[in-house]
Amino acid sequence: MSTTSVIVIGAGISGISAAKELAENGVEDVLILEATDRIGGRIHKQNFGDVSVELGAGWIAGVGGKESNPVWELASRFNLRTCFSDYTNARYNIYDRSGQIFPTGFASDSYKKAVDSAILKLKSLEEADCAGQVAEEAPSSPKTPIELAIDFILHDFEMAEVEPISTYVDFGEREFLVADERGYECLLYKMAEEFLFTSNGEILDNRLKLNKVVREIQQSRNGVLVKTEDGSEYEANYVIVSASIGVLQSNLLSFQPPLPRWKTEAIQKCDVMVYTKIFLKFPNCFWTCGPGQEFFIYAHEQRGYFTFWQHMENAYPGSNILVVTLTNEQSKRVEAQSDEETLKEAMSVLRDMFGPTVPNATDILVPRWWNNRFQRGSYSNYPMISDNQLLQNIKAPVGRVFFTGEHTSEKFSGYVHGGYLAGMDTSKSLLEEMKQSLLLQPLLDFTE
Ligand code: FAD
Repeated sequence: MSTTSVIVIGAGISGISAAKELAENGVEDVLILEATDRIGGRIHKQNFGDVSVELGAGWIAGVGGKESNPVWELASRFNLRTCFSDYTNARYNIYDRSGQIFPTGFASDSYKKAVDSAILKLKSLEEADCAGQVAEEAPSSPKTPIELAIDFILHDFEMAEVEPISTYVDFGEREFLVADERGYECLLYKMAEEFLFTSNGEILDNRLKLNKVVREIQQSRNGVLVKTEDGSEYEANYVIVSASIGVLQSNLLSFQPPLPRWKTEAIQKCDVMVYTKIFLKFPNCFWTCGPGQEFFIYAHEQRGYFTFWQHMENAYPGSNILVVTLTNEQSKRVEAQSDEETLKEAMSVLRDMFGPTVPNATDILVPRWWNNRFQRGSYSNYPMISDNQLLQNIKAPVGRVFFTGEHTSEKFSGYVHGGYLAGMDTSKSLLEEMKQSLLLQPLLDFTE
């Protein structure tokens, strides 16, 4: 068995960016082991209703600010087709269960009240944290359907109005929806082309091995042995693990010797957000499509019950596709039931909003990120008040095993650009470590 310099586990954006950084810095004998039959991970397009829909990441978030978002730069370089998305109008398109839209004034007052109360809550959490106490429950928690709907869009989508988010502060507040038949994932293929051998859009380089599910990582003083589910073994000097935080929390990967306690405790402490976009195809368009109408909200007495809707006419005119986004408990609930049941629920919600003449959907697509053993959720969600130590511990290498992925990005966890920058960052630390060990080697040889 020959020894590779570095094995990268996972071929999502962070794994590909880590491997590329190594190759560009002279470490070309990398080996990428990917569990599935494709690269991309949580960037995943699928054909649905005659267009490409994005099951995972769909937006380039953070554009138009003082610094340039590196993923936006990649998108521009590779001519990725995108369209501007404006969430801010969603608050004016809130339907109640009888199909009435809440009047604009009432909706914006409710929104402002929710933002003020979220800011107060955050402040009291911060104060309690500073004083080492537990914050008391906020006196005005949302109760009515509209309050619950606004609370959902404020907390499960964008907290930017409550708390500054680095993505929007650094890169700008604009968001662009990817609307390209090649999919968001074409950025990864384009990156791969720059350091792996490809032909006719296919990666033919044997430094990328698909369908290799890593189960065990054994490290010793001299190197690392990686074992996969199909019985293969690979040796390397170092390993970079880019599997998601959800996967690290599961028992898919085992480490020998086991990871130290500070590491496992940090991994278990990080929350995992489940975020599910359900796609529905219709024979015709029955919703409103004018300016400011891309997003609409359904206010129900159950928080997060088919709340957040988007039509795809801006991205693909005439596609007649609606997307409804569910999160966390609602995501897990629909993942556990049949798609027919989910379709029935969605149709009943749409008929509440648009009346009984709404035609039946002709197709439905329900991604299952929570039950996918190579994901176990959609993205990391650090506690609002958390010290930086938690992230540092999740990110820190253990011996010859290094960690990357969106969950290791200090400023941009949860985002595609977070994964992209984290991959480069981890490889830079590893290159530094390799340089140091080469400098030390003659000294060690001398003393032995
Ligand atoms: P991944 O993409 O998960 O890559 C890890 C890879 O490791 C995967 O390919 C996996 O198959 C592989 N792997 C796991 N276990 C093993 C194993 N044992 N052996 C071998 N391989 C293994 N971000 C945005 O910026 N904008 C958005 O609009 C957005 N929306 C999102 C919507 C959804 C539904 C989801 C799920 C995510 C969204 N994100 C969004 C987040 C974004 O997709 C992620 O932050 C980013 O893609 C993560 O990249 P990664 O390389 O860290 O992880």
